Amino acid sequence: MSTSLQDYRAVVGSEVIDELKIAADQVKDRKIQHINSTFVGGGVAELLARMVLLFRELGIETTWDVIKGEKPFFEVTKAFHNALHGGQETITGAMFDTYRETTARNLEEMEIVGDVVVVHDPQPAGLIERRSSDCRWIWRCHIDVSTPDTKVWNFLKPYVDRYDSSVFSIPEFSQQLKIPQFMIAPSIDPLSDKNKELPQETIDRALEGFGLDSDRPILTQISRFDRFKDPIGVIRAYQLVKRRRDCQLVLAGGAADDDPEGTEVLQEVQKAADGDNDIHILALPPHSDIEINALVRGSTIVLQKSVKEGFGLTVTEALWKKKPVIAGAVGGIKLQILNGITGFLVHSPEGAANRVIELLGNPELGQTLGMNGYLHVKENFLTTRHIRDYLLMILALEEPGKDLRYLTPDF
Ligand code: UDP
Repeated sequence: MSTSLQDYRAVVGSEVIDELKIAADQVKDRKIQHINSTFVGGGVAELLARMVLLFRELGIETTWDVIKGEKPFFEVTKAFHNALHGGQETITGAMFDTYRETTARNLEEMEIVGDVVVVHDPQPAGLIERRSSDCRWIWRCHIDVSTPDTKVWNFLKPYVDRYDSSVFSIPEFSQQLKIPQFMIAPSIDPLSDKNKELPQETIDRALEGFGLDSDRPILTQISRFDRFKDPIGVIRAYQLVKRRRDCQLVLAGGAADDDPEGTEVLQEVQKAADGDNDIHILALPPHSDIEINALVRGSTIVLQKSVKEGFGLTVTEALWKKKPVIAGAVGGIKLQILNGITGFLVHSPEGAANRVIELLGNPELGQTLGMNGYLHVKENFLTTRHIRDYLLMILALEEPGKDLRYLTPDF
């Protein structure tokens, strides 16, 4: 469904939209090109799908391209991703060669059309070799690089230092770089199929379709099957709760084109569920947005028990739906969940289980957390704020020495 600026006015207010239009007018004659590694699956694709539409709606020509790579390349970049997040990975020289070879092919094939080129994450970072002096190149890092594997970071850094600027989601992720660094938090689109209001009958139908009983509590985690999302820890938490309270668990996730580990992790999760009929492991096809929206809306509590997380759009999506959220105290989740105010932060399956039991016994508390979470997202994590930050960054990069720039048409 296409949305217009007018539709956003109803959600965020006219002032926000008027301000966006003023900033957009100053950037209008630049083309923006986003480049990442997948159109489908994961937070970056989710973000770009909606942001590109809103940039265009604001009259700014915006394109989105994806680099090409074979399975060995994505195995290498997934290992880099894990290592940059601080995970244990064996990194070899051959892996760097694979990265360079695929980068070389993309450097030949990718058409650079933007006056502002925004390259997302490490996979396409090497495209910076195509930089020309008349374009601005921005490296947008979505992952938690607060404690990166030195070998991988030292490989990546010379590429990053050639950009005009970098963007990180939270200050803790910033790095020693030669280029300016901007802190811009991600966002969700309140009008997308993933987030819009749904009729109760759509929610009921979805729950029934997935074999869930809406009369019993439903705990849900929506995530790619990835070890950093700790799906096994979620099962452990559910099992601890189940000793004291009746409930059902949903672990719903799909594949991402640039994540070859999903199948293996899904098998581990199925094994850990050990045939429990109240654990629903749902491997969802791409574009299951309405189904995910309905699952979250129909859930009693949403979990995101990540042990590493760049930002965690799934948390934002659940808070927007006024759900009580229990999540790992890591990365960008800490920006979203103010412990005890907009949700609960936890450090272990036991901690998660205790909070679930507390919320199941006190639905009013859940409602308060949910309402606070919704207001926090409305104020800070919607696409309109995100686009405004991008526009202001582009303007700031064009006049690096200038401290003040008036955006009103009269100046
Ligand atoms: N998502 C989805 N289908 C799935 C699992 C996840 O559409 O089966 C979406 C989810 O709703 C969210 C995004 O993918 O919008 C995941 O973003 P997040 O930042 O939480 O994690 P990432 O996958 O980028 O690590």
